[in-house]
Amino acid sequence: MAIQDAIQKLDPVSLVEKYGAPLYVYNAERIEFQYKRMLTAFKVPKIRINYACKALTNVNILRYLKQLGSGLDTVSIQEVHLGLHAGFAPQDIMYTPNCVSMEEITEAVQLGVKINIDNISILEQFGHLHPEIPVCIRVNPHIMAGGSSKISVGHIDSKFGISIHQIPHVVRVVKTTGINVEGLHMHTGSNILDAEVFLRGAEILLSAADNFKELSFIDFGSGFKVPYRESDISTDVEDLGEKLSKRFNDFCEKYGKELTLIFEPGKFLVSESGHFLVKTNVVKQTTSNVFIGVDSGLNHLIRPMFYNAHHEIFNVSNPNGKPRIYSIVGYICETDTFGVNRKLPEVREGDIIAFANAGAYCFSMASNYNSRFRPAEVLILNGEDHLIREREEMKDLLHHQVEIDSLKPAIAEKN
Ligand SMILES: *Cc1c(COP(=O)(O)O)cnc(C)c1O
Repeated sequence: MAIQDAIQKLDPVSLVEKYGAPLYVYNAERIEFQYKRMLTAFKVPKIRINYACKALTNVNILRYLKQLGSGLDTVSIQEVHLGLHAGFAPQDIMYTPNCVSMEEITEAVQLGVKINIDNISILEQFGHLHPEIPVCIRVNPHIMAGGSSKISVGHIDSKFGISIHQIPHVVRVVKTTGINVEGLHMHTGSNILDAEVFLRGAEILLSAADNFKELSFIDFGSGFKVPYRESDISTDVEDLGEKLSKRFNDFCEKYGKELTLIFEPGKFLVSESGHFLVKTNVVKQTTSNVFIGVDSGLNHLIRPMFYNAHHEIFNVSNPNGKPRIYSIVGYICETDTFGVNRKLPEVREGDIIAFANAGAYCFSMASNYNSRFRPAEVLILNGEDHLIREREEMKDLLHHQVEIDSLKPAIAEKN
């Protein structure tokens, strides 16, 4: 099993002995592999990969991607600040907010990052306030994509982007404000399986591009699917690369300028690099089920509960044990099931359980629910493990709580 091999190679049991559980572990080699794979798939004169950092925001991960040559895609002003802190140049950061205030956008302008605008109201205001600042426009091509309605953002009812049907309106605003549109962008959502979907979106975006004469880039967003199960098919980047490169190069020739092709993958770059390691607290036989209760829950890894996402689960302490069927659950005081009816080598209390695909949207969505500490994070770099985030402790839970002096209820006075 390839996914399991990748985990066992990291010697997860020793890592837990050294750093404790629960523990997030990221393998830098895998990030590099994915980055280079994407870069080589597209044969265009100018390409740029902007890592969508909401997937995993540890500054060491950001710096590692910067070393590889990546830019950054950010969706909040705080992510912009993290990117700058990690050492990215402002012009290598794209800021793609949705429904944020004009004040936040103005702050991003002052920081010098690239601005991606996703509604006409903001475009108008922006054009009046900062006519000299070039912008990118997020277009919604209205193609349905993705496996979950929570992550599909390109459909007709989506709150994201400016509808492709509103391009004439955009053109009017651009004319009256004198704003310079330097880029067009789309991002249709996660889990696109089909290169054809991408190409349909690309076609729509390129047809809109003819309305803007001063473009320097076109950003095709993301949607690259990675395998979550051994049998999953993922986005065939090489096939997509071949087809889209050809179409893009043809377009540039007609447009009369070599534009930069941009992608902004999150999941594709970091999902498979990550593993989440937890310890088995109890093996609980009920009348109908055998539960493995682990020292984690939806507070640390919410994707199975939130998106119905499938994460492969392995018993890395007893990989050669006799196979049995288990439901793996968390310790949170509501139902938090990681997986049902999973076949695992016999699990004993104390065994370390590993979740695959834990690099993207796992730690970055973790919380302190049930007043639990968020886990530590470790990066494996050139065969060496580095602690890149300490496990939280009590003081983190109390940090920023303001403990006021007198909390005597008024009613106590009367008694
Ligand atoms: C979340 C997001 C991405 C990354 O999506 P993945 O599925 O993780 O690759 C890219 N662009 C924008 C604007 C996003 O919001």
